[in-house]
Amino acid sequence: MTPPPSGQPRPPIGRILLKLSGEAFRRRSGAGVGEDALAHVAEELTQTRAQGIQIGVVVGAGNLVRGRETAFLDRATADQMGMIATLINGLALCDVLNRAGVAADLYSAIAVSWIDPVRPDSARATLDRDRIAIFVGGTGNPFVTTDTAAAIRAAEIGADALLKASTVDGIYTGDPKTDADAERLASVSYDRIISTQLNVMDLAAVALCREQGIPIGIFDHTTSGNLLKMVRGEAVGSWVTPAR
Ligand code: UDP
Repeated sequence: MTPPPSGQPRPPIGRILLKLSGEAFRRRSGAGVGEDALAHVAEELTQTRAQGIQIGVVVGAGNLVRGRETAFLDRATADQMGMIATLINGLALCDVLNRAGVAADLYSAIAVSWIDPVRPDSARATLDRDRIAIFVGGTGNPFVTTDTAAAIRAAEIGADALLKASTVDGIYTGDPKTDADAERLASVSYDRIISTQLNVMDLAAVALCREQGIPIGIFDHTTSGNLLKMVRGEAVGSWVTPAR
């Protein structure tokens, strides 16, 4: 069988876990949650959902709080703030989707009386009912990030792939912003990412995906239609898989 141009692994993707960092929610000028940013994310999700793809989303909070960037506070406290901040982005995304007529349910890893706790069986049932499952609160534990939460949720829901939305269109041999010779790699092995510490996503997340055999796709989410292109195996982004 001829591999697709992007190096996307077979079999075809029917269920994804999308990791959206807080940057995807950022207001154009400054911090906080932006209407345009949310509208773009909602449009990408709607388009992909309409093609029958089941979607789980893990939401970051870098637009609001990142524990490691809040060094004047105790790290565990700053991380708790970060986890709480993911609720803000997740609530906004859920609201925008539901008002656009796209059914979505919110699940939190930290206890909030009006949000359902994360339960894999419940989340899988949500996906099977063609609803989008949005996961907030990270892992519920400090000292890790929502990348790790994304890998865990991908395993829990049995995702065919973890797609990490980025502002760079994949993994490069160098920094494409400063190195004109940097080339995009269609496919990279988990081992290469881990051994060279390529700054793709948290190594704990990559290690978990390797163990669970979950391919990781990295793509530029700011270009309309790219999420669906990744799912279809078109030549955008990069894939992290067992083979090179
Ligand atoms: N966080 C945490 N545990 C988790 C997930 C997140 O402590 O399981 C905190 C951590 O401080 C992190 C912040 O929440 O910096 C926001 O998440 P992340 O940095 O992953 O957001 P992103 O960079 O994806 O926007």
